[in-house]
Amino acid sequence: MSDWQAAAVADPSLCSYQLHIEITRARWLSIGRLGRFRFPAGHYVYTGSARRNLVARVRRHLAREKTLRWHIDYLLAARHAHVRDVSLSREAECRLNQRLPGEIPVPGFGASDCRAGCRSHLRYLGAAPVPEPDRHSLARSRV
Ligand SMILES: [Zn+2]
Repeated sequence: MSDWQAAAVADPSLCSYQLHIEITRARWLSIGRLGRFRFPAGHYVYTGSARRNLVARVRRHLAREKTLRWHIDYLLAARHAHVRDVSLSREAECRLNQRLPGEIPVPGFGASDCRAGCRSHLRYLGAAPVPEPDRHSLARSRV
């Protein structure tokens, strides 16, 4: 069991997660009904939540074979997209997301249900090395 899984099992108050994604080559990708977008190479963070079954949700994100359903599924199905780390938090997903630096590569990405005005739950942090983990995040671990 990886560190993030053990943490999620031990602490039921963990409800939000962030996937730290690296895209190793710039790519044009179709993201469901949102359309086609260019994703520069570099580092991205996707923020989501699951009040129940947090482990199952994150494991689904990490699985290569699955039905493409959410926007993030289309991104992670790309050959050059890799989840490098997972971090978990007790904070609401929108607060975590809004503290991230970076740019919004795809307006509306993962934000269909967002009521907090995030505009996107995917951020592009640029090509530089991944910054220090958010101090509110727990159990960040390599995948
Ligand atoms: Zn939000």
